[in-house]
Amino acid sequence: MTRRIFLLDSYQRTFSATVLEKRLIDGSPAVRLDATLFYPTSGGQMNDRGHLSGVEVFDVIVREGEIWHLLAAELPDESPIHGEIDWPRRFDFMQQHTAFHILAGAFSHAMKIETLSSHLGETFCTIDVKCPDLSQDEMNRVETIANQVVWENRTIKAQSCKSEDLPKLPVRKLSDLPNDIRLIAIDRWDLDPCGGTHVASTGEVGLIKIWGKERIRGSIRCRFSAGGRCLRQLQEQGKSIQELSEILSTGLADMPRAVQKTLDELSKVKKANQMLFAQFLEVWCADLAHQALSKTVVVRVFPGLSADELRLLARRASQESAAVFLLAAPAERTAFVFATGKPGIDLHVVLNHLSTKIDIKGGGKADFIQCSGPNIGDDLEPLLEQAALIVANL
Ligand SMILES: [Zn+2]
Repeated sequence: MTRRIFLLDSYQRTFSATVLEKRLIDGSPAVRLDATLFYPTSGGQMNDRGHLSGVEVFDVIVREGEIWHLLAAELPDESPIHGEIDWPRRFDFMQQHTAFHILAGAFSHAMKIETLSSHLGETFCTIDVKCPDLSQDEMNRVETIANQVVWENRTIKAQSCKSEDLPKLPVRKLSDLPNDIRLIAIDRWDLDPCGGTHVASTGEVGLIKIWGKERIRGSIRCRFSAGGRCLRQLQEQGKSIQELSEILSTGLADMPRAVQKTLDELSKVKKANQMLFAQFLEVWCADLAHQALSKTVVVRVFPGLSADELRLLARRASQESAAVFLLAAPAERTAFVFATGKPGIDLHVVLNHLSTKIDIKGGGKADFIQCSGPNIGDDLEPLLEQAALIVANL
């Protein structure tokens, strides 16, 4: 059994150990040591990373009760080996993990809400609590209380107790482990069985932010972060808000109103555009119908139309005339619609011809085909005219 040094001192960064066993795990060299500082993924907390005698440790897992260090290469043949954990990553997880305990205490003390589980990820952490819903005011209250506990800089200590003594203690959650239980005690705040890594006083957590919530099977999952990670996220958010503020030419307080006003205006413009398109559609349809009087195949390019608008136009034109319509709307990609109301014509010949010239994607029925291809500029109309000749000779 590996001695878990991280349980004794979360702040130790380097250690020496002897290799007990080597094996391949999922194709990677892995070692089991007589002692380790590397925290394995467990209890909702992600693994440490770092190096063993200069070789990268990219994952640390528990298999059959033993800790295995997964390595980027074989270890050099030396003893003892020297280990060093990735300290910024470890300290970040110590801040997140301790923030979880503080939040769980806040939910318990302030709201009488039970904590169900947690997950400490690399970007965000989550805490699942047993309640049907949480309002923004309630989340703000828990967040404020949790941060007060941070500012009070309460001590955090690990202590052990016999499993049979656990029910006599004011623990937040019982444990079904058979042996001695490791308890994490935040002074006058939270007592919880836990094998993770924590900071020594709540002040080191720095800051706790609840970012949002979602409903998960009758409980609520709150997304949170703490410490340096939280500061970086707030800095990123601040930068985005500043950029938005400059784009909208307004301050933070007026931003929701400015965004709503812009969306309302956009909605009006969209409606006006739809009305204009409906009017233009009549004009374009009449024009296509006029051309269809003298041609069996009508080629037209409509710059600026969307693929949906082009489809609508082709549908209308082919319903009102028996000609073949080869329409295109050049944009970043060019939209094509080939349509006819004349029975017995398979417009796949057009698609097949174009696909010998350009990279074109799409399909449809014999009388109505939609596709898209690259923007080929001035070559577009000649290409469609070539296809028109093929169709005219069918
Ligand atoms: Zn813990």
